[in-house]
Amino acid sequence: MREILVETIKNTIKDLFIDANKSLCREEETAILTAAQNEDSPLGKKVMKMIADNLFFAKNADLPICQDTGMAVVFIDIGQDVHITGGDLNNAINDGVAQAYTDGKLRASVVKDPVFDRSNTKNNTPAIVHTNIISGDKIKITAVPKGFGSENMSAIKMFNPSSSREEIIDFVCETVKDAGSNPCPPIFVGVGIGGTFDYAPYLAKKALARGINVKNPDENYKKLEDDILEKVNNVGIGPQGFGGKTTALGVNIEFYPTHIAGLPVAVNINCHVMRHKSAII
Ligand code: SF4
Repeated sequence: MREILVETIKNTIKDLFIDANKSLCREEETAILTAAQNEDSPLGKKVMKMIADNLFFAKNADLPICQDTGMAVVFIDIGQDVHITGGDLNNAINDGVAQAYTDGKLRASVVKDPVFDRSNTKNNTPAIVHTNIISGDKIKITAVPKGFGSENMSAIKMFNPSSSREEIIDFVCETVKDAGSNPCPPIFVGVGIGGTFDYAPYLAKKALARGINVKNPDENYKKLEDDILEKVNNVGIGPQGFGGKTTALGVNIEFYPTHIAGLPVAVNINCHVMRHKSAII
């Protein structure tokens, strides 16, 4: 049994959220730079250039890429041969988030209660935590500061089990069309297919956190990712809604077995600021 101190987890979370807010992973940065080169629409190209410049300035000035520094989403995969010591895991995660947003001077955007007391918690806690037990003696942590301009444009549909592949593609495209310029395009699209009503959106979020360079290992779903991306880029919304062929920079799908009577599909939209940073301890 390997012992890992909660202090180590807290410090890792803090560093990941600060880093994720100030620089994208190489794959998403490359997708933006490539799109800035390839966009045909003059206005779209100009916008892509501004988005690319903004990434560069944020990194060099040690500033957040966007004023919306997101709600803190944490994926934590815990090896079953790990013994977490020195305190409570959930407290450590939230302490790490709180330190990232206060010490890192990142905007706090979380309110105490969604309906009756929308006062700011002032340190961006509590985080949304997805815990998964895996084999081994390591912990993998992925920090995803999730912007809400794009989160608000996400959708779920409980399809009839006899629904076709094309109906799923149409649902994703309609969701993107309805979103228009609201999610700050070009977007990244996470799609969760299967499971239950609550599990499909989790899969969609997990798909976004996977990174755009990792395609689905299943050939059917990999092809579906490619076909959805092509169709979404034909809707013409373009960078920040100014038109062009770059509406989305990537589509990732995660799937899971489901019930014979159902076919849940969730679409989680992320803006061009697709922040995710991971560490293994
Ligand atoms: S959706 Fe993304 S780019 Fe738009 S304001 Fe939020 S974090 Fe920033």
